[in-house]
Amino acid sequence: MQNLTIVMYHYVRPLADSRYPELKALELDRFRGQLAHIDRHYHVVDMEQLIAAVRPDGEPLPENPLLLTFDDGYMDHFEHVLPLLSERGWQGSFFPPACSVVDRRVLDVNKLHFVLASVSDPEILVKYVYSAMNEARDRFGLEANEAMFARLAGDSRYDDPCTAFVKRALQRELPEAFRTTLVDELFSQYVSSDEQDFAAELYMSEKELTGLLDAGMFIGSHGCQHYWLNSLDRQAQIEEVDNSLDFMERLGVSRKDWVMCYPYGGYDESLLGILRSRGCAIGLTTEVRVADIDRCDPLALPRLDTNDLPTSAASAAE
Ligand SMILES: [Zn+2]
Repeated sequence: MQNLTIVMYHYVRPLADSRYPELKALELDRFRGQLAHIDRHYHVVDMEQLIAAVRPDGEPLPENPLLLTFDDGYMDHFEHVLPLLSERGWQGSFFPPACSVVDRRVLDVNKLHFVLASVSDPEILVKYVYSAMNEARDRFGLEANEAMFARLAGDSRYDDPCTAFVKRALQRELPEAFRTTLVDELFSQYVSSDEQDFAAELYMSEKELTGLLDAGMFIGSHGCQHYWLNSLDRQAQIEEVDNSLDFMERLGVSRKDWVMCYPYGGYDESLLGILRSRGCAIGLTTEVRVADIDRCDPLALPRLDTNDLPTSAASAAE
């Protein structure tokens, strides 16, 4: 058995002083505290060490190894994370979706985060979705509002029922053409009418990504369009993978021993076959547990969320 704690981060920012203090983000001070906790209880390892360790004759990882991963290519990572990791001489692994970097588009999932951070009460959004569903019910054959709410609102690790319903309905459940339009309407009504401008603030550009590489950080694939890759047919999966590899190559990332981080944790057998044929070394999921790299498929390693670890150095190891 060889345990490895892989921690997943998304937004990391000085939240209280920011324009969106209600955003579900990790407050920068808590991130600092978490790094201090990690320093006391773990050995932070590089992605290159992990890639070597999963080979049959690989060099084992040090005791209590931990890998830091940052999804979605936020500017937060360049502005706030990079300096703190560099200070400690630690490597982070960063996973930007190509489309947000190249096309300067805001991902639907991010639009929704900022919509939720901008309204005083998520029930406003539930009512908005209900009324749009009423109008589109016949066209898309939608179920009754309350039935959908009952199905989607429960069982979330972090969200209240209204927020969980809005997220699930608008990220996945409603037909794509319908939910994309709804998210766009909400984004321009509550957040910004200039998506390009917002994207330029929210995400790193190729310049910052190259800066990460120059500082010794690791960059891997998070697909192009941030799709649930297990919902695509094989041809579309191939395009997502190959286009993201082309994008990374332009940044200067090698096609040998590259790493895939599945958007929303979604993967299937067809995708795994494509990844193997292209020499993918490691795949990161959103399944929540500590990895055992002697037993796990290296293309399906589980991760913990930052919320699963303490955020101060004083906390005992768990
Ligand atoms: Zn993502």
